[in-house]
Parts: sequence; structure tokens; C-alpha cells
Amino acid sequence: MTRLHILILGGTSEASSLARAIAEDTRMAPVLSLAGRTATPALPPIPCRLGGFGGIQGLVDYLRAQGIEALIDATHPFASQMTAHARAAAAICGIPVLRIDRPPWMPELGDDWTMVPDIAAAARALGATPRRVFLTIGQKELAPFRAAPWHHYTIRSVDPPAPSLLPPRAAVITARGPFAEAEEHTLLLERRIDVLVTKNSGGAATEQKLAAARRLGLPVVMVTRPATPPMPKVADADAALGWIEVRIHEAAPRRV
Ligand code: NAP
Repeated sequence: MTRLHILILGGTSEASSLARAIAEDTRMAPVLSLAGRTATPALPPIPCRLGGFGGIQGLVDYLRAQGIEALIDATHPFASQMTAHARAAAAICGIPVLRIDRPPWMPELGDDWTMVPDIAAAARALGATPRRVFLTIGQKELAPFRAAPWHHYTIRSVDPPAPSLLPPRAAVITARGPFAEAEEHTLLLERRIDVLVTKNSGGAATEQKLAAARRLGLPVVMVTRPATPPMPKVADADAALGWIEVRIHEAAPRRV
């Protein structure tokens, strides 16, 4: 039986869940692609490739060379360049593309969120009075906070940030979610945090910091998501499985 060749662009829990869900399905030949940003990624049991493709043309070349028939963009909501490349390359190759777009977090009663459009605006939103800031925006976009060196930062990321990116008064915690609310509550209290800065990544794994901030009455500076281009979207890996089934049935007559 010929198998459907699928490329999953990953770096998220949704991509890993999807990869695990189809790993044993003999109707498909999936490959997971990771950018290679994380030193020790948790790899699911399907073939994986690491590193960038070399822009849209590089991705087009890869899709053609590997005979990829369906592309699933399960990158992070803030990985907007990869999403744009996926959409463009799929159009050039004439293959279907699906985006897994997990729903953003929404403010609840008791939340005190300041919405900002980008990381630089988040740094400015902290203001001129020194504050104790919990920064959970990853490791690579810390530079804007160097322009606000009067705050004390607790920075949590999967891998340690480059020292050159750190603001002067910073403590680093390396940890990978999921994080429980009690754990987040303790951290906010122990570090005497008075404001939380996060991207609106959505998802359950890192959501409990928001519940802990709400319970303590702490304000949150929330970086809103970049817009995604128009393309077919689903909210999670389960819904992506349904989309793959349709692709398998579409491909079957072409192979007879
Ligand atoms: P980005 O700005 O959208 O992409 C920058 C470049 O990285 C892309 O043009 C591509 O290089 C390469 N790339 C990104 N995702 C890739 C993938 N899955 N496989 C192969 N190459 C990939 O992406 P980013 O924000 O740096 O994110 C990088 C990775 O970290 C993604 O896998 C994303 O899902 C994950 N991640 C990002 C965030 C975040 O906040 N941005 C948070 C958690 C996880 P070429 O142009 O050379 O192909």
C-alpha cells in the first residue's frame, strides 16, 4: 500500500500529540520538523528532521524531494514566519496545508490584563517604577527588557538565555511545562513577583500562571498574537486527524 507522505512543522505539544497519534498508522509516512532551537527536544516516535529549510524556496525543494503530499503547520502561534512560509510553499507545490491554531487565552473575571502588540511594548508597559517581573516569553526576545534595567526580572525558559540578552537584574529559571497552579502560586509568592509578562500562547501547559496571578490579584502584561494568514485551521491535534483522513481518501483514487 502506498502511504500518504505528511510533513508536520512542530515545536509544540500539538505537533507532538499528532505525531504520537499517527505513529503506528501504516497508511501514512509522517515526518516531524523542528527548528532546532531547544537543546534536548522531546522527540515523538516518528522520523524527525532538525533545522530551517532555507526560506520558502528551501521548503519547496524539501517538499518536492520528499514527495510530501500534505503539510501540517503545528508551529507555535508566535512562529509567524514559518507559518507564512508553509502557506506559500504549499501553494507553490499544489499540496494541501492545515494550520493547528490553539485557541488564545481569554481574560476571566478578576483578571487585570494589559494587552500589548509586541515584546518592546511589553517592556514599556512595565513603566518607570521598579517592579519585580516574572518574564515567561522564551529565551530569545529578552533584549527589549535591557532598556528597562530598573526592574528585577525572574525569567523562565526551557533553555538558559544567552547572557548577553539578559537585563542586569535577572534571575533565570530553566524549566519545561506543564506547570500546576499551586507551583505557579508558590513561585509568584517566593519571588515576590508583582507583575507577570507573557505571550498569549494559549494551551493548558502554561496556563496556570494566569490562574495564580488572578488569585493573587497580580497584573499581567499580555502580548497579543500576530495575525495568521488565511488558511484552513483547526484547534487541536484531534481535529487534524480528521483532516488527514480526508486527505487519505482523496489520495486513494490517484494511486489506483
Ligand atoms: P519563526 O520566527 O516563525 O521562524 C524562523 C525560521 O525558523 C523559519 O523561517 C525557519 O527557517 C525556521 N523554523 C521555524 N520553525 C521550524 C520548524 N518547525 N522546522 C524547521 N524550521 C523551522 O519561528 P520561531 O518563533 O523562531 O520558532 C521556532 C520554533 O520554536 C518553531 O518550531 C516554534 O513552533 C517553536 N516555538 C516558538 C515559540 C515562540 O514564542 N516563537 C514558542 C515555543 C515554541 P527557514 O526559513 O530556514 O526554513
